[in-house]
Amino acid sequence: MANRQLERADDNVPDNSRNLEACKDCKIILSSNQWRSIKSCPNCGDVTPETTSNFGGMVSVMDSKHSWVARYNEFQGLVPGIYAIQLQDQQHNPESKENSYEREELNEDSYD
Ligand SMILES: [Zn+2]
Repeated sequence: MANRQLERADDNVPDNSRNLEACKDCKIILSSNQWRSIKSCPNCGDVTPETTSNFGGMVSVMDSKHSWVARYNEFQGLVPGIYAIQLQDQQHNPESKENSYEREELNEDSYD
């Protein structure tokens, strides 16, 4: 079973560490060459997925159904791969979890 997961993951991990772009919907990260060559996003199925190179943090997900990291980051049910933790465009969204980290940090600072 683990080998099958690895085989499936192979198609959906970046083929190099430069020129990476994340899908704006599901946040899966692939190289810009891969985005050009694939027919659609492996999760969203969009024929022309919107991608961005402005992302922060990466997390690798193997078993998105059982991983608490996947659950916490809302990657449940997605294909195994490398995912962006935060997209630049979401930074100022007050509803996002990323900003709750920032608020907590700010609160800690106020105790100084
Ligand atoms: Zn996607």
